Amino acid sequence: MVRYRIHPLKVGELTAPVGVLTMLGDMRTFLVAPVLIFYLEGGPRKIVVDAGVPAAGEDGLVHGFPLKGGGEEGVRQALAKVGTTPEEIELLILTHLHFDHCAAAHLFRNARIVVQRKEWETAFNPIPTARAVYDEALFRRLEHMDLVLLEGDCEVAPGVRVLLLPGHTLGMQGLAVETTRGTVVLAGDLAYSYYNINPNLSEFTDLAGNKLTLTGRPDLPFAPPAIHIDLVAWFDSMWKAVATASRRDMVIPGHDPALVNTVIE
Ligand SMILES: [Zn+2]
Repeated sequence: MVRYRIHPLKVGELTAPVGVLTMLGDMRTFLVAPVLIFYLEGGPRKIVVDAGVPAAGEDGLVHGFPLKGGGEEGVRQALAKVGTTPEEIELLILTHLHFDHCAAAHLFRNARIVVQRKEWETAFNPIPTARAVYDEALFRRLEHMDLVLLEGDCEVAPGVRVLLLPGHTLGMQGLAVETTRGTVVLAGDLAYSYYNINPNLSEFTDLAGNKLTLTGRPDLPFAPPAIHIDLVAWFDSMWKAVATASRRDMVIPGHDPALVNTVIE
């Protein structure tokens, strides 16, 4: 049985209002969060999850958010930390096609690239409020690569299953990954941080070391982030993610600062 070690790798640092992390939260206080990709070590194939964010423009912004790092260099440097390159990767799984998850996918030119069909189709024509987080130029070019569109849950490698987890987007997928401690679920942006999975966790330290106190929501099983497309589906997907993971704390969020410089096994 294949057991993976999962390496969350920071490719950039994004600044956003606290209110992006917590629905109807504080829009005047800002936090710094990592843009992450994940390298899965230990299987027969080299696997990466997600492909980073574009570098900021001259104004220091990407899609309106202040950003440090990112771009092709961000992804190359992150993978160099685990001794590999985008060209060596054999399977690239994109959780979804938001600008901060697929920007350098074109570098993975020897990889099979896996996206949910629903995500692919809706990314080209998102609902008006979601237009700001998609950039067609970043993913249209994947059509000329080894792109595979999946419909729903499916094993993509030994010990790695994709899970359709709609809510943040209509076609977002997470992954169930087998490790020595059991099944870890990489939840993509279904949850940005551990707070979204456990709303009792009100203490939050951002990447810059700023300590924030979030409003605890003990009345909720999960606290939705501000960016979602279907809140009913979001709650269903959270229950699915928690049920699939061996333990609740083995659901891994998409942008939590606590993941930087850790290995999940
Ligand atoms: Zn997203």
